Amino acid sequence: MTNPNRQIDLLDREEIATLQLERLRRTVEVAARSPHYREAFRRAGCDPTRIRSLDDVRRLPFTTKQDLRDCYPDRMLTVGREQLVRLHASSGTTGQATVIYHTRQDLDNWTSLIARSLKMIGCTPLDTFQNMMTYGLFTGGLGLHYGAEQVGMTVIPIGGGNTHRQIQFFQDFRTTVIHITPSYALHLIDAIRDLGLDPAGFHLRRLIFGGEPYSEATRTKLEETFALTAYNCYGLSELNGPGVAFECRKSEGMHVWEDSFLVEVIDPESLEPVSPGELGEVVLTNLNREAMPLIRYRTRDLAFLHEDTTCPCGRSFRRLSRITGRTDDMLIIRGVNVFPSQIEHALMEIPEVGNNFEIVLDQEENLDRITIRVEIRGETFHGDIRELRQLRQRLGHAIKEEILVTAGIELLEPGTLPPVIGKAKRVIDNRRI
Ligand code: ADP
Ligand code: ZN
Repeated sequence: MTNPNRQIDLLDREEIATLQLERLRRTVEVAARSPHYREAFRRAGCDPTRIRSLDDVRRLPFTTKQDLRDCYPDRMLTVGREQLVRLHASSGTTGQATVIYHTRQDLDNWTSLIARSLKMIGCTPLDTFQNMMTYGLFTGGLGLHYGAEQVGMTVIPIGGGNTHRQIQFFQDFRTTVIHITPSYALHLIDAIRDLGLDPAGFHLRRLIFGGEPYSEATRTKLEETFALTAYNCYGLSELNGPGVAFECRKSEGMHVWEDSFLVEVIDPESLEPVSPGELGEVVLTNLNREAMPLIRYRTRDLAFLHEDTTCPCGRSFRRLSRITGRTDDMLIIRGVNVFPSQIEHALMEIPEVGNNFEIVLDQEENLDRITIRVEIRGETFHGDIRELRQLRQRLGHAIKEEILVTAGIELLEPGTLPPVIGKAKRVIDNRRI
């Protein structure tokens, strides 16, 4: 039996498993109250009352983004209107938005997950937290907000954009913790330098990343430039939002909060589980949600689970690797599978590369052509054509080595591409489908 007084993030594997089974059973029962799951369970021929072990989750049907769309606006609801206190909708990175409802208890649970995560990385009431993610339907804003308040941090709900004001606030309020997308953080570097300031010269100590994939090279660049520690935070609006998994101070993967989510990693083709340590699609089941629990939600995010369940930080919640991309952001270029994150990785390792780029795909005589338009750092523009030609060649080689396809490289002056303040849209695909 789980000791209710034990600090939840210190539970051991056995306690976690016991809690998960208890909550999985309850969740499946609750889900079956919605028109969608009642029908889906019936069609899959599964009896929700017969969940005996955690492995039995594999007998339950998957839920896809399409299911959520088909159920719009409320066919997955399990409670009456009077119990709902908020709804969020996904920002629609791909296709039509989807909606998720929350009860009071759902929001309180989410808030506790965020508070737990922030404490894990060392945040205290002495910190000032500038939340630079968009507020509104997007969960990055309100999602972190209440958890940070619960910790007792001074929260600045500034939202995304208005970059000069953001920088002013860093100075005026001595901000110590920021929450931001990696693309916006890169843009911020340029904006700070344009003002003649040093990005390392503020009081910033921690940077929480989320909302989109980024490479190790980008992380290193941001940590060095801002002189702080960056922590990865994973989530999606379908499963609350940020705070499904959060990196601890050991930075060896993100702890999945398994008291609230059951995580599986599957092969997206065969739908069978992959072995621990192997890359696959992350599938999540809510274990602690009332209004709209999701069963085996296929996130389309690619990652792997670390085999080892003992983290040097002492927690035994399983750790998820960084998200390397989504099954649906994979580009097929001349038959080769390419993820935008691979291109980002290759670019960010080259010191002359600036903080913004885009990937353009065209078709010429039925052959795919890929061009990478990349801003380079102001200091490297000396007007020396030979130097620029060499840089272009170096970039071309680095990209080819990473993605195995030859790409055209276009060098741009800083500030040529539109600044990114939320999630970046890096790919412009002009090919005929
Ligand atoms: P959408 O982008 O589909 O509108 P959300 O706004 O909820 O939906 O975004 C969730 C998605 O953002 C995740 O499925 C994932 O692809 C991406 N994401 C969120 N956090 C991270 C992270 N830390 N690393 C990489 N990708 C992330
Ligand atoms: Zn840890």
